Amino acid sequence: MAHDAGGGGAAGKLVVRNVGLMLSGAIENPILDADALVAVDGRITGVGRIGDLDTANATTVIDAQGVTLAPGLIDSHVHPVAGDWTPRQNQIGWIDSCLHGGVTTMISAGEVHMPGRPRDIVGLKAFAITAQRTFSAFRATGVKVHAGAPVIEPGMEEIDFAELAAAGVRLLGEVGLGGVKDGENARKMVAWARKYGITSTIHTGGPSIPGSGLIDKDIVLEADADVIGHINGGHTALPDDQIRCLCEQCGRGLELVHNGNERSALFTLRTAKELGQLERVILGTDAPAGSGVQPLGVLRMIAMLSSLGEVPAEVAFCFATGNTARMRGLDCGLIEPGRSADFVFLDRAQHSAGKTMLDSVRLGDLPGVGMTVIDGIVRTQRSRNTPPADRAPTVVGH
Ligand SMILES: [Zn+2]
Repeated sequence: MAHDAGGGGAAGKLVVRNVGLMLSGAIENPILDADALVAVDGRITGVGRIGDLDTANATTVIDAQGVTLAPGLIDSHVHPVAGDWTPRQNQIGWIDSCLHGGVTTMISAGEVHMPGRPRDIVGLKAFAITAQRTFSAFRATGVKVHAGAPVIEPGMEEIDFAELAAAGVRLLGEVGLGGVKDGENARKMVAWARKYGITSTIHTGGPSIPGSGLIDKDIVLEADADVIGHINGGHTALPDDQIRCLCEQCGRGLELVHNGNERSALFTLRTAKELGQLERVILGTDAPAGSGVQPLGVLRMIAMLSSLGEVPAEVAFCFATGNTARMRGLDCGLIEPGRSADFVFLDRAQHSAGKTMLDSVRLGDLPGVGMTVIDGIVRTQRSRNTPPADRAPTVVGH
């Protein structure tokens, strides 16, 4: 396992050539007419045909060998605790394992698995600030973990949200996992959080583990958090009529997670499609959880939704890239100049019945990850976790 200390803008100039298919992450135009890309100091500066780009004086050149380049995947729902360790399943290296599944960015929905997690107000604030600090200072193999997501408790006042924001906290953990389980109080606190630039997510459905509770559609609608966290349950889902209400009666994010009810995820997807609102769909794993850690969880969701939910594979990739980046205000997730140079290189898995990577995903197979890049730096080569990709990129020059 390789680790680095964070930001790392020392990437120099990266040129990627010979890309067979360039996925943009943007749902309105998911496939780009491009075979090459240039990034300087970790930011994309050019995308297009190799002859039209300034590729001189590169510090690193990647020959994509004809495979697909996509924005690095974003897991919209994780529960990290400390570094690359999770006490939930007593596992070390889970974040690094997810990078091998193409995930370059993770968003904490609360550091709720910390043994003895503080629930008093001063304690929960201190804990959230600590998580924000530690995960921005330490990155497992370069993966960006946005953490420091306090779980709100009764008695919090506006000043608490102002203090959290001033200290660098940008997220709320899942509303409903703490003592605030009623719509009225949740709404008040979510609004305070929003006022100070803190985005929010709410637990949806039945309790996940002993100690969490039922959050039904009335509470979700009243709380009005930015993201309807695991609308397909975590794992116990709301009835279909309530899910339909949530899709129809608000415009918030529809988050589908791997550690949820697959049938309800497909129901949500079809409802969003019917409404013409696929830009609201984002993906997560909700890992680590009772059902474990899934290094390939986001890829599995993409393949499941594309194959059983009848959406084109290139659109399903947007659920885990551009949609999430836009909803969460992240600088990654889209292949366009100015964005963070965070990529995953994919190809059809060896012996897939699909003729191309997109074809194979449409048939329900997982693609093979051949390389990941974060901040313009190559982080992993052929994945140790996915089925082997037919072809994998190579670094041809420094
Ligand atoms: Zn939850």
